[in-house]
Amino acid sequence: MPHLLILAQPLPPRSLENLGEFAEERVVNTPFGEAGPFALRGDVWILPYFGSPTRTDPRATLWAAKDLGVQRILAWEAVIGLDHDLDRGDIVLPDDYIDWTRRQPTTFFQRFGVGYIQQVPPFCPDISTAIAQHLPTARPVIYLGDEGPRRESAAEARMFLRWGAHVRGLNLVPETYLAKELELCFAAIGVVTGVGADRARPQPEGEVRDAGRAILAALPSIFAALPDPPQCGCDHLQAGPRRRGALPQDWREWS
Ligand SMILES: [Zn+2]
Repeated sequence: MPHLLILAQPLPPRSLENLGEFAEERVVNTPFGEAGPFALRGDVWILPYFGSPTRTDPRATLWAAKDLGVQRILAWEAVIGLDHDLDRGDIVLPDDYIDWTRRQPTTFFQRFGVGYIQQVPPFCPDISTAIAQHLPTARPVIYLGDEGPRRESAAEARMFLRWGAHVRGLNLVPETYLAKELELCFAAIGVVTGVGADRARPQPEGEVRDAGRAILAALPSIFAALPDPPQCGCDHLQAGPRRRGALPQDWREWS
């Protein structure tokens, strides 16, 4: 079963060669627009993904992933360190989130009246465990999902901190909860590339590049460590509505 790596941070060319030989490239047509191109290396589809309000409908990405036979999605994102203990180049493992998006789709189930999916755990436990094992320096954090593309104001940075958020980013919310609706596993690795607007901007000293190298080195082990079949339960989150007949058996008819 292939995996999907969503790259919400640009990487130098050829960085992902250790995932395997390039096999093919695919664009997928979905009810939410075109998604891709996805590039297949080994058993990992790779999708460049950069956040902005004009980005592809996140439902197109997730629908395409499901269509490609993917079960596990790992997103790699650049985040802003709101917590004053976080500095550029720190690697983080989001383990909960706050949804501060306002113009993003919130469900696939506009016609069905289902989708009351528990958000505990908020990210896939199988993938998160594999990340924690193979990137032990990744600090668990609460992620604030925002719209962008503008940066937060200093007052917003202080407000987000008071809410309990440690980092702010643009690409994991609503993706993580939309993925659950399609019974997909979704988790993420973040790299702090900047600090909150209430702090002085640090001078870059190559620490983000070093973090990238550490993640690239760990990626093959992270994917290899994922249990098959999944132990997390993400793959049957819709078992109830499906059994009751509230949802068609074919997921392609869910939207
Ligand atoms: Zn899972």
